[in-house]
Amino acid sequence: MFLIISFVLFSASCENKNDKLLTKTYYQYFDTVTTVKIYNSNKDFNKICNSFESNVLKKYNQLFDIYKTYKGISSIKTINDNAGIKKIKIDSELTDFLLCCKKMYQKTNGNVNVCLGPVLKIWQKFRNEGKKVPSLNDLKNANRYSSIENLKVNKEKNTAYLAKKGCSIDVGAIAKGYVADKIYSFLLSKNVKNAIVDFGGNIITVGKKTNGENFSVGITNPDNKSENIVTLKCKNGLIISTSGDYERFYEVNGKKYSHIISPKTLFPTEKNKSVTVISKSGYLADTLSTALFILNYKEGLELVNKYNDCYALIIDSSTKLHYSNGFKKFLK
Ligand code: ADP
Ligand code: MG
Repeated sequence: MFLIISFVLFSASCENKNDKLLTKTYYQYFDTVTTVKIYNSNKDFNKICNSFESNVLKKYNQLFDIYKTYKGISSIKTINDNAGIKKIKIDSELTDFLLCCKKMYQKTNGNVNVCLGPVLKIWQKFRNEGKKVPSLNDLKNANRYSSIENLKVNKEKNTAYLAKKGCSIDVGAIAKGYVADKIYSFLLSKNVKNAIVDFGGNIITVGKKTNGENFSVGITNPDNKSENIVTLKCKNGLIISTSGDYERFYEVNGKKYSHIISPKTLFPTEKNKSVTVISKSGYLADTLSTALFILNYKEGLELVNKYNDCYALIIDSSTKLHYSNGFKKFLK
């Protein structure tokens, strides 16, 4: 999703004139825009960015790609192409990720289901055409292949298998959050002390700004994309993930259809306009932002409040703001 969250950090100037802020933007990974901003950077900036591109963005983009295969790499597409045919030997990181997806299915009471691929594919086709809404009958037929039980992952042998032809995985709800965790570890491994990354609406913070201030992260007003509805202050190690209905959607007869689908109704959910989750875990933040988007705000708050270190802001369909326990400490 294209930059659901806009930075407002440029408005604050650095205290120390020698503190440079260097920025680099990438456009060709995860179907989104990634912007890295490193404060007080030195001559290593280009080296760090090159390594970031090949060892994080490119690497995980290839593993998680559902549209393309890459020579010598078993990706999600390889698993999908072999549904009902054979199990695939995969990278241990992909094993780890898929197990994480299965766990999150349980934690979100089935609301975030990476095996919903067959249903999501139909919606994507209709969204691209932008004219009609799919029939419930076609969606129900596709949904016969959406059970999470069809995804078999062997942790010891590093294999994955989709048990029936017609099954497919869609990792759009979780992958970017999972990679957000890798981005944070990567920056630490390069000794980066002060940085902020916008990875397609998942914001990753390292340290603070060099003048000691927290980073400012603006949450877009879903009714007016050019303004922020609130501004957050965040520091070291937090991932801020937003799911919204105002970037990827289409309209039929004046009605808006978003890209997040309820596994119960098989239709886009209409309960909320935007959900932001803050957590030290990127995959939790990303998965919960999608799950809470599907739930009503009471159910959503109940789910997120079970976690001691996850915080949510839910903006419901009437643009009313609902805060989880502890979220308000991030308001600027
Ligand atoms: P984005 O990736 O657009 O920032 P999300 O993290 O909320 O937003 O993920 C939305 C994506 O997740 C959709 O584009 C689709 O690929 C996938 N998706 C939609 N509904 C579900 C669902 N109920 N369970 C699992 N994945 C879903
Ligand atoms: Mg998500």
